[in-house]
Amino acid sequence: MGIMAGEKTIMNLIDRYAVFGLPIKHSKSPRIHQLFAEQTGQTLEYSSAEVAPEQFAAAAEMFFSHGGKGLNCTVPLKELAWRYADHTTERAQLSKAVNTLALQADGTTLGDNTDGIGLVTDLISNHSIALSGIRILIMGAGGASRGIIAPILEQSPQTLVVANRTVDKAVKLADEFHNKGAITGCGFDDLGNRQFDLILNATSASLSGCLPPLPSGVLAENGSCYDLAYGNEPTAFVRWGLENHAAKSLDGLGMLVEQAAEAFFIWRGVRPLTQPVIELLNSERQARS
Ligand code: NDP
Repeated sequence: MGIMAGEKTIMNLIDRYAVFGLPIKHSKSPRIHQLFAEQTGQTLEYSSAEVAPEQFAAAAEMFFSHGGKGLNCTVPLKELAWRYADHTTERAQLSKAVNTLALQADGTTLGDNTDGIGLVTDLISNHSIALSGIRILIMGAGGASRGIIAPILEQSPQTLVVANRTVDKAVKLADEFHNKGAITGCGFDDLGNRQFDLILNATSASLSGCLPPLPSGVLAENGSCYDLAYGNEPTAFVRWGLENHAAKSLDGLGMLVEQAAEAFFIWRGVRPLTQPVIELLNSERQARS
């Protein structure tokens, strides 16, 4: 009994974090946060749990009431997490989605969305792709798209076009952000013979090995491609970029690590180095493929 009580005390001393999602088995977040913790000398525990949307509020409540300090929420829980948070940052309000919940000193939860800053940091800092003054196309108008639009517009691109299979969703999404920069929404068929310096694939087509329809010539000379999805093998869109002579054709592993670093900073007040973690994960997947 005494040992049990002692163990419990020690467990409570270790700050606990977790990622909730469905599915969650293949999530790289526990590994990324463990690597960040080792690198920065922080003591913490980070686990993963499969949580269905209907269980989310109760599971989050349980986690925080039992000493949990912070949660990451992934598909399909980000909108629920946005509704769950007691307070939200401006970027979470704009994206209507939360991927990071942080317990505050007064016991309330703060919801933030670090996906957009994760993408922009990966593009600019890790891949030297400057966004200001260029023509950018986002394929897809779902949750991920919504999260990346404001941080991209902050970089002052020349134009930002959001194209989606369900045209109405792209038009409405672009309308929501029209006061933040030069943005329009359209269907894939409306792309005509327009050209872009950067094409971001924010559809979930890659998850089933498919490509959204891309008109030939849509990628400008020296333009780059970026798939928000990632895998052990190059995604269909990354392959499309390579076949269409993209200057760079990248997947979303860097974005994943950068959004995690931002969450880690929110929780721990320490900014981990992302490059060694990206390099390690890249070399591990190369060894696996
Ligand atoms: P959503 O389910 O919210 O949206 C999916 C989008 O994909 C919709 O615009 C949908 O169009 C479109 N779509 C789905 N299938 C097809 C298809 N076959 N052809 C054309 N369009 C299609 O998903 P999310 O926005 O949350 O996620 C999108 C992608 O971003 C996923 O691959 C996800 O893994 C990735 N992601 C990566 C992150 C990272 O850290 N690297 C972070 C967040 C997301 P419609 O509206 O017509 O249904």
